[in-house]
Amino acid sequence: MTRAAALSIDLESYWHAELLRKRIDRRSADDRVLPATLPLLDLLAKRGVRATFFVVGEIIESHPALVQRIVQEGHEIACHSFSHRPLWDLSEAQFDAELARFSEIVGRHLPGVKPRGFRAPTFSLSPTTAWALDVLAQHGYRYDSSIFPLRTPLYGVPNVPPAPYRPAPNLVDSDPTSPIVEWPMTAWRAGPLTIPVCGGFYLRVMPMPLILHGLRQAQKRGPIVIYLHPWELDTDTPRLPLSRGDTFITYHNIGAVMRRRLETLLDNFDFTPLWDVLRAGNYDISG
Ligand SMILES: [Zn+2]
Repeated sequence: MTRAAALSIDLESYWHAELLRKRIDRRSADDRVLPATLPLLDLLAKRGVRATFFVVGEIIESHPALVQRIVQEGHEIACHSFSHRPLWDLSEAQFDAELARFSEIVGRHLPGVKPRGFRAPTFSLSPTTAWALDVLAQHGYRYDSSIFPLRTPLYGVPNVPPAPYRPAPNLVDSDPTSPIVEWPMTAWRAGPLTIPVCGGFYLRVMPMPLILHGLRQAQKRGPIVIYLHPWELDTDTPRLPLSRGDTFITYHNIGAVMRRRLETLLDNFDFTPLWDVLRAGNYDISG
């Protein structure tokens, strides 16, 4: 049984979220990146936990000192695109340009840092956007962690393997010649059910004992990976007028409840960055 567990933070502003991205005027919006992220960094430092930060390039540009602190504290820096546009909104050439721009901003502010991992905004990797894996490999990336293992209205690919693998273009089958390793989000497979116990909205909305049980069950099949956003830990994340359903998805249990849930996860699992798990687990991460 594997006990490996990885913690990932998608470092972006609340306005990068897909439900808000096109509805907000950034020039007049309150920038909450620092108040949302600094307490998280303090918590991880106090617990001696290192994580993978999938960073939006625009955040490196606007908050270089913050990202430099993240590097200094031993966390892994990985790529969450430059502008947080989902893959389904991009051509291959536009995605190539996003990665080039990300690389340029990393070179300017984080000399010596070479990101190896990528997470697509809004889990937008699917069989129709699987061309992105080749582009990632061309830019030197070694792994991707962008598949949500359940179909939702917005995203998701059902029936993917529960542990890191080299994906065929349909993303469900393995192909040892694939240029990159894929690590899907963690789900608890209970009979016919696939229950996402991997973080974000699902961590905010499901009962904590169920999440802990699901994660322990999932650990029997492979290393687990958790994701969350700093804005989910920020009590003062601005509330925008959304439909009732979108309000629930976006704001339910953000702030103190989410913070306590993260602390419970830290009490129960020994988290490391994704790259450390992949390396230690002898996954084939050669480029
Ligand atoms: Zn994101």
